[in-house]
Amino acid sequence: MNKKGFLRKTKQREVILSVLRSTKSHPTADWVYQEVRKEMPNISLGTIYRNLKILTEMGEATELSYGSTYSRFDGNAEEHYHFVCESCDNVFDIDMPIIEELEREVEAKMGVKVSRHRLEFYGKCEECLAKETEQKKNLAN
Ligand SMILES: [Zn+2]
Ligand SMILES: [Zn+2]
Repeated sequence: MNKKGFLRKTKQREVILSVLRSTKSHPTADWVYQEVRKEMPNISLGTIYRNLKILTEMGEATELSYGSTYSRFDGNAEEHYHFVCESCDNVFDIDMPIIEELEREVEAKMGVKVSRHRLEFYGKCEECLAKETEQKKNLAN
């Protein structure tokens, strides 16, 4: 690859990462594509996918799949837990420290060395709960 080609690729990856880091919504590749296109109109969805994969491999981003059709991407490379709303499919970061004791417990139990763990909580988000309460109120009237 010539130098110009290399620089273009680096620039693309930078823009994709900054778009990913600009949101806390854990977007799909398609959302990232729509946003990056505002800055780089000629970029293709394939390029977005390729770069998201590279960023994931580099440890700059995480790919989250929750058994739904679309993978979601997380630009927050720090380890953290997630809450997934089963009503609106939104994924939220949980602001609490990683429970390291869990890893020690698994190590003691299994005789293994744990390097990291992931934890997801499922349920209804604040907004969906509020909507539900509102609907119930309307039904009661
Ligand atoms: Zn929700
Ligand atoms: Zn996250």
